[in-house]
Amino acid sequence: MDSWSSPNVPALPGAGVPLRLYDSARQDRHVSSGDAGGASMYVCGITPYDATHLGHAATMITFDVINRVWRDNGVDVTYVQNVTDIDDPLLERANRDGEDWIVLAMRETALFREDMEALRILPPAHYVGAVESIPAIADEVVNLLDAGIAYRLDDDTGDIYFDVSKDATFGYESNLTRPEMLAFFAERGGDPDRAGKRDALDPLLWRGARDGEPAWEGGILGPGRPGWHIECAVIALGLLGSRIDVQGGGNDLLFPHHEMSAAHAEALTGEAPFARHYVHAGMIGLHGEKMSKSRGNLVFVSRLRADHVESMAVRLALLADHYRDDRQWTDDLLKTAQQRLSRWREAVALPAGPSGAETLAAVRERLADDLDTVGALAVVDDWVDATLAGDRTDADAPALVAATVDALLGVAL
Ligand code: ZN
Repeated sequence: MDSWSSPNVPALPGAGVPLRLYDSARQDRHVSSGDAGGASMYVCGITPYDATHLGHAATMITFDVINRVWRDNGVDVTYVQNVTDIDDPLLERANRDGEDWIVLAMRETALFREDMEALRILPPAHYVGAVESIPAIADEVVNLLDAGIAYRLDDDTGDIYFDVSKDATFGYESNLTRPEMLAFFAERGGDPDRAGKRDALDPLLWRGARDGEPAWEGGILGPGRPGWHIECAVIALGLLGSRIDVQGGGNDLLFPHHEMSAAHAEALTGEAPFARHYVHAGMIGLHGEKMSKSRGNLVFVSRLRADHVESMAVRLALLADHYRDDRQWTDDLLKTAQQRLSRWREAVALPAGPSGAETLAAVRERLADDLDTVGALAVVDDWVDATLAGDRTDADAPALVAATVDALLGVAL
């Protein structure tokens, strides 16, 4: 599948600061980039039926900043993102609207790409659909069956499940109790009450063909389509190898999605942990309420763009709080970001300001501390305040600060 085009990223002088990133599994911060100057990142992409709301945007911006900080450190980044272009929620939406699911998925994926370009998100090296990955996924489900870690239900549906009891470290990624796992599993697309499973938490690997649903050849699996968790595990293993540096997504993916994907990957490779860092971005609410499709209060990037809201202001607004916090989208948040953007532009257009090198060093320091964008924005605000107040000691500073904000925060001034 085609990715989107890359914005230009200015090179910054001097050395970056190694990124220390919070890992949900170890519940602590650790230096994030992997071996020999390289780093690999897999971010769970959209199911293309509701793209791109501000929750998606906040998640993509979070991992974009990781990507930018790594690159500033001279790390060779390999970034992979998937598109879940076949799954129950996509089919449900297509059925509800009387639309062809393929047309819906293609339209929403195209819109997502446009939004990512507008937000100046660096594109993944590999942007991969579930449908194009089905042969590889089916092969790995066969391997799990052969290893006795997967089983077929004996109700003639052709459905195949993963046996979580075979995974001795199951639960290490999310650190949840079993009752919490059961609650999230039921809430987030799992089927704890499905008859015939060995354990209520066992996740679907392969759904046998049903009347009225698309299905693909699965060899000895029989016709059907893959589950979501095995999709991400197989795409990541195929392109990034058995150990990755960052497995990323919104914090609603902590369980079951990332726990199950890790369990599948580790069962297939025998290597653990699958990811050195499981990184989760907070949810975006709207004026104090959870933003969700069921409440009908999703705010879309494309809607804001159509209303002539500058995408750089949207980006700055979503950087104004820490990525791990659940936070609110409000009119005030956007207005503050718009004012900040104007002031920053006004300051970098002046002939000089206080030290640009010190500002760059301080921004690097803040971002290396688990992406402290709140602190990084405050550093730039201080420079802008001093510049606008008449401190004009460094003639190179306006260009360097503009390049810093562009390269590290992804905000073009
Ligand atoms: Zn995923």
